[in-house]
Amino acid sequence: MMGLPSCSEVESCMTDYMERALPWRKRMGIRIHLLICKVCAGLYGRLRTLSGRAKDLFAPPSPEPPVEANAALQHAMDLIRKQGTNGPPPT
Ligand SMILES: [Zn+2]
Repeated sequence: MMGLPSCSEVESCMTDYMERALPWRKRMGIRIHLLICKVCAGLYGRLRTLSGRAKDLFAPPSPEPPVEANAALQHAMDLIRKQGTNGPPPT
């Protein structure tokens, strides 16, 4: 049986776990602990929403326009236009 981290160990490593700054063996232990321990899972969930809100605060209010989506749309429009002029004539 692998030695799972204790609750206090999980709590102290939780931010590192969220930032993926831990070796996989430790991450696995914490992951399993979070699956079986409701106390730590709840804490982890709260921490995640907190960090999500923090990210929202620091993020720019409006995201950049999706340049790639616009380019894809333009490309599609060009194709349609080309098909309209160069397509085979209907019989
Ligand atoms: Zn726990």
